[in-house]
Amino acid sequence: MRISECKRSPWPWSANLCAANFGGGAQEDRRASAEAEFRIVASPQWRDGRFRNRQPLWMSRVKAVASLFSRDPNHAPTAPVPIFEGTAGELAKPVDGDLRATWLGHSTVFLEVEGQCILIDPVWAKRASPVSFTGPRRWYRPPLPLDAVPALDAVLITHDHYDHLDRGAVVALAGRTKRFIVPLGVGARLRAWGVPEARITELDWWETVRLGRLNITATPARHAGGRGVLDRDATLWSGYVVAGVARRVYCSGDTGMMEAFDEIGARLGPFDLTLMEIGAYSQSWPDWHMGPEQAVEAHRRVGGRVMLPVHWGLFSLSTHAWTEPIERAAVAAREKGVVLATPRPGESISPAVSRPRIGARWWPSIPWRAADRYPIVSTRDGRPAGDPSGRERKTVDASKLEALRRELIDRAYEHDRRGEPAAADLASMVSARLDELIAGGE
Ligand SMILES: [Zn+2]
Repeated sequence: MRISECKRSPWPWSANLCAANFGGGAQEDRRASAEAEFRIVASPQWRDGRFRNRQPLWMSRVKAVASLFSRDPNHAPTAPVPIFEGTAGELAKPVDGDLRATWLGHSTVFLEVEGQCILIDPVWAKRASPVSFTGPRRWYRPPLPLDAVPALDAVLITHDHYDHLDRGAVVALAGRTKRFIVPLGVGARLRAWGVPEARITELDWWETVRLGRLNITATPARHAGGRGVLDRDATLWSGYVVAGVARRVYCSGDTGMMEAFDEIGARLGPFDLTLMEIGAYSQSWPDWHMGPEQAVEAHRRVGGRVMLPVHWGLFSLSTHAWTEPIERAAVAAREKGVVLATPRPGESISPAVSRPRIGARWWPSIPWRAADRYPIVSTRDGRPAGDPSGRERKTVDASKLEALRRELIDRAYEHDRRGEPAAADLASMVSARLDELIAGGE
């Protein structure tokens, strides 16, 4: 059955290749894999051996290392998170107004649009990590057990970072998912995990595939792909537009601020609902994630009506307090007159008919930094503001940092010899030394 159709692709062969996914048999599978590999190198996004952003990314490695020692004490919840308990029951009810979105924590959203059931970035794993014993750990059980997930018309994956693409969830859902829609290159991972070739559709930016009455389009994002150091940007990252006859939804994926928001709004907007990433930001990597204020601005640029914040509230992936993204998004939304939906994890909203839980607080009041104290501003072209060379200025002399590193190692050995836990002590030692070095100049 040929139900695949790619539109608006800049490449004349894409339509055939998407359709070719619906073949069958080993020979066809190998042929489709070869074509998928060819589509990667033929993509306008591919250059010199990897996928590239239109607006490059900038990162401060010095700040990123220093931030390891400056995590907010409230970066993770200290009390149980009040998740919504009746998710499965709510999903059994009819959808009001042909649009319902159920936030399952972080970027996992169950989306029902004009009769189609779509699951975005399904993550059920205990940790957003390649291994089970370490890495960011989820703060609460999944609000919807995997075996209670309804039959799916499609799973959408925005990119192959661990907090978006969970092998266990993909394998568990493969049997009741009609198709997996992924950015270029991610299909190979799914094939390796046993998802049948015929159910995988890979899209480049601006390519569209048909799903029932819906058109699903992969949209540009400003981020990175890959699951390890060796496959950096070997797979593409994207957002998505899910457009029905009457309802339209935009999902940002992971992204820094970018000029493409205007084009997305102009070509595919406006939207009844946007799923905008607001968390895991840092001044050390201002181009990887937008932060709350730029997310509200991006929602306006694409022409969104109701904004559902995602990419927060499940894992500790940066140093900010865990409630800071939503507190700041609420302030920015109020200032800009944006309707912000704040469902609890596991709770549904029906933005087309009802007033969502605007400003309803379910998270605790704990200290957080306002935007003026810790602004997140993406660079325009991968160069930090004020430095036209794009080179990172060193705050501390490299030899002094090296001396501090040796001291840190010596102290750690000393603690180890005495059998004492060392982490907090060493962190405060490093923090104090850095303060001294900054105060003393170079
Ligand atoms: Zn990511």
